[in-house]
Amino acid sequence: MPELPEVEHVKRGLEPYVVGERIVSVQFSEQVKKSHAGGKQAIVKGADLADFSEYVKNYKISRINRRSKYLLFHMENETTEGILLSHLGMSGAWFAIDSVEQITEEKFRNHVHVIFTFESGRLLIYSDIRRFGEMRFLEKLEDHPPIIAIGPEPFDENAQELFLASLNLRKFHSKPVKDVIMNHQVIAGCGNIYATEALFKSKIHPNRTVSRVGLGKRIELFHNIVSVLQEGIDAGGSSISDYRNVNGQAGSMQDRLQMYGKKECPLCGANVKQAVIGGRNSHYCGKCQR
Ligand SMILES: [Zn+2]
Repeated sequence: MPELPEVEHVKRGLEPYVVGERIVSVQFSEQVKKSHAGGKQAIVKGADLADFSEYVKNYKISRINRRSKYLLFHMENETTEGILLSHLGMSGAWFAIDSVEQITEEKFRNHVHVIFTFESGRLLIYSDIRRFGEMRFLEKLEDHPPIIAIGPEPFDENAQELFLASLNLRKFHSKPVKDVIMNHQVIAGCGNIYATEALFKSKIHPNRTVSRVGLGKRIELFHNIVSVLQEGIDAGGSSISDYRNVNGQAGSMQDRLQMYGKKECPLCGANVKQAVIGGRNSHYCGKCQR
């Protein structure tokens, strides 16, 4: 599943190719059309396909930013502004290329679901093997409450302060720390892979309750969350699942992971343990993490 670093990488990869481009038409796959005809709204949410096409047509993409794991394409035309919001779900991928045939990997080429054609002739293509991704057109961000509820971006100046304030909330005291740092209202974009790594670096057992993590450890944990996310961005994301960047290349963060998906602890050599915490499978070292 693409996490914050992967989405950040998609954003950076797309920027030079799509900013300044004007959308002239949109096409949808047969599966998306069938789903919408059956009232299920696969991928394109909050509007029927004809309305969605009308909304985005003639808009020029003015900039792209990322909020947690959402990509936001900010758009403008002569009179109004709008936002195309995209979430990659389990296996979404964007390609900015000249034709579908240029997608080198078959599994992505065979699962193209939305194609935006630009005035320049270039295409912006959304591919999604499992179709859990979503996109929607918004007049303004406030129209989509889930994105307004998201906590601070880890790289924001006030993120540590807000993170520590959240951990002080009574409702989190008896919860496993891993569960809480993966809550996007506490900190944006810390998914399973990066939460696992940050806890290992901090030598904190993922199941330890928040009340039993002292202030010093909470600060250390915050810094490790930021550093593993930054490392993920620098490595171009990880390619454990179906994530690929804009040019179809895989990131290399998976080679730098120390605990996620490992069998042996790199510090002490003990067998890595697994447990389901907060509904997610968690890897940890029972000796190094307390
Ligand atoms: Zn260990």
